Amino acid sequence: MDTSLELLSERILHVFGHIRQCLSEGLEFVHEYDFGSTTVLKLKVLAIHTGAKRKEKVILMARNLPPVFACVECGKQATQLCGCCIYEEEAFYCDECGAEHECGEDMMLPVVNSPRMGVCGYCGEDA
Ligand SMILES: [Zn+2]
Ligand SMILES: [Zn+2]
Repeated sequence: MDTSLELLSERILHVFGHIRQCLSEGLEFVHEYDFGSTTVLKLKVLAIHTGAKRKEKVILMARNLPPVFACVECGKQATQLCGCCIYEEEAFYCDECGAEHECGEDMMLPVVNSPRMGVCGYCGEDA
């Protein structure tokens, strides 16, 4: 590992050490990340996870049900959004209306279950 990476992982461990001390049940807080195209998350600690200690690191403990977005043209369930218009207005489209959208299909991004949807061309995880 080069020194900058080592420093970074040390810093991350340091930060997580602090997070553990700062968080408590019921606490609401804001987390901002990616300072290029910042995503702001409003978070709330619902409960403290208790369970057997595992060797493997936790990658994903829980996931929300994906919110449903309606097509702005016809009201059907949206499958895509325009990566260009989303900064100005609601820009969710179903398959048919998306195909006719003026910005063209190159600007279309899939609707995914993530607060990063539509940011920096984010397309979700492949899986
Ligand atoms: Zn539609
Ligand atoms: Zn557009």
